[in-house]
Amino acid sequence: MGSNPTEGTTHHCPVPASGGTTGQPRGDVSEGYEISESTRRPAGHMTPDEFRRYGREVVDWIADYYERIESFPVLAQVEPGAIRAALPAAPPEHGEPFDAVLRDLDEVILPGITHWQHPSFFAYFPANASGPAILGDLLASGLGVQGMLWATSPAATELETHVLDWFAELLGLPDRFRSDGSDGRGGGVIQSTASDAALVALLAALHRVSGGRTEPDGVGSGRYAVYTSGQTHSSVEKACRIAGLGSGALRKIDVDARTLSARPEHLRELIARDVAEGRTPALVVASVGATGTGAVDPVAELAAIAHEHGAWLHVDAAWAGVAAVVPELRWLNDGVEAADSYCTNPHKWLLTNFDCDAFYVADRGALVEALSILPEYLRNAATESGAVIDYRDWQVPLGRRFRALKLWAVIRWYGADGLRAHIRRHVGLAQDFAAWVGSDERFELVAPHPLALVTFRLRAGDDATRALMERVNASGRAYLTHTSVDGHVALRVAVGSPATEHRHVAALWELLRTQA
Ligand code: PLP
Repeated sequence: MGSNPTEGTTHHCPVPASGGTTGQPRGDVSEGYEISESTRRPAGHMTPDEFRRYGREVVDWIADYYERIESFPVLAQVEPGAIRAALPAAPPEHGEPFDAVLRDLDEVILPGITHWQHPSFFAYFPANASGPAILGDLLASGLGVQGMLWATSPAATELETHVLDWFAELLGLPDRFRSDGSDGRGGGVIQSTASDAALVALLAALHRVSGGRTEPDGVGSGRYAVYTSGQTHSSVEKACRIAGLGSGALRKIDVDARTLSARPEHLRELIARDVAEGRTPALVVASVGATGTGAVDPVAELAAIAHEHGAWLHVDAAWAGVAAVVPELRWLNDGVEAADSYCTNPHKWLLTNFDCDAFYVADRGALVEALSILPEYLRNAATESGAVIDYRDWQVPLGRRFRALKLWAVIRWYGADGLRAHIRRHVGLAQDFAAWVGSDERFELVAPHPLALVTFRLRAGDDATRALMERVNASGRAYLTHTSVDGHVALRVAVGSPATEHRHVAALWELLRTQA
């Protein structure tokens, strides 16, 4: 938007094409510069009135979408290339009214949407959206600020620091992760994703174990090793690749056959072997709620072994961590007080639109030293005073959106009791579902399911299990995904959409039972 001299008219894009018919700029000469018509007038920006009108239409569109979401097949039923084929080959030469965008949203885009907010979406892990988060995000877009430095928008930094301290309190995380913690060294930051969190944890770990040498010298070949259970998310391997260690630096810790959590004795063996061969253990990643099965690693034991060798312990609690808002699930934080860093994603299961990963460090020094480069154009008095946080030093990109607004909006709208109710409801629904699966002898549960993820398979074998999933997904009535446990296919049902009710989980079971 910009102030528009044609204010009061509703016609969009009032600007005549630059150059008229001759192709020459029409304009006058001012202080030696030729000012064209299109330079003097805003380039067809949406006026405040147009923005108001279309903004209301968009909010109505979203509200209608949520009201009719159950009428759509959960999984998009289009063939590859179908959406592109319905789009014009070339961009428009002249601006179009926003109604045209909304019309195409219905006609072209919606058929290609897999409805993540559908109450029968049970695939992957959820990616919660909620009214307050959407509005918070819209406000962030409206303000359009860049919070890379404290000085570039002090409120963006200070709200983020404050909300992450609130969030640590809501989850019962240790004091050492808070920016106002007793030793004053910790703190939280919003990363885009848990994958970013794993990467910056690795960079901080490399900084610490190398005594700061990895920044000027790089990581060399085969010098450092990283450890994580075979159940851990692939983001850790990706972090190794991005950091230049390569996938070959990653060691997979064996898991316990029953709990599927990392075996500390095996970590000890892996580290001993690396040390004997001259490699430095840099990072151990413990999962709290592994992607495939929801397995929870013994954080304290893994941390003790990591620290014996100077390695960094990062906890990836991307999906499960937020469940610690519920006091009876605080066991999820067992051992976290020994971690160097921790992350969980409000954008998965806590009502906050993507992207919002809450990442905490116990000692921000290693992180900031690993990532800080201060070119002249970013120098400013606040940074040099040392009295402020500049979040650009806590993440990979320089720029950053004002994501704290949506988390702030969510926490204020729901309150701690609303967040607890959200988690408890899903855990209860998942327990009902697991009981049904457990009572049908054709099925078997393959992993513990204390939260809202149930992993199970058909005893008839891999082909039958996979075929069952394909039939369910093709029906459009529910969507679930699979994983591999003990080398065999298993299905995952992750209950987590804000709209999911008992009847949706019951309908899923009915579908599975009759299709099996
Ligand atoms: N870690 C775990 C345990 C996950 O389950 C996932 C995704 O499901 C990730 C990391 C990656 O999440 P993100 O998309 O935030 O990088």
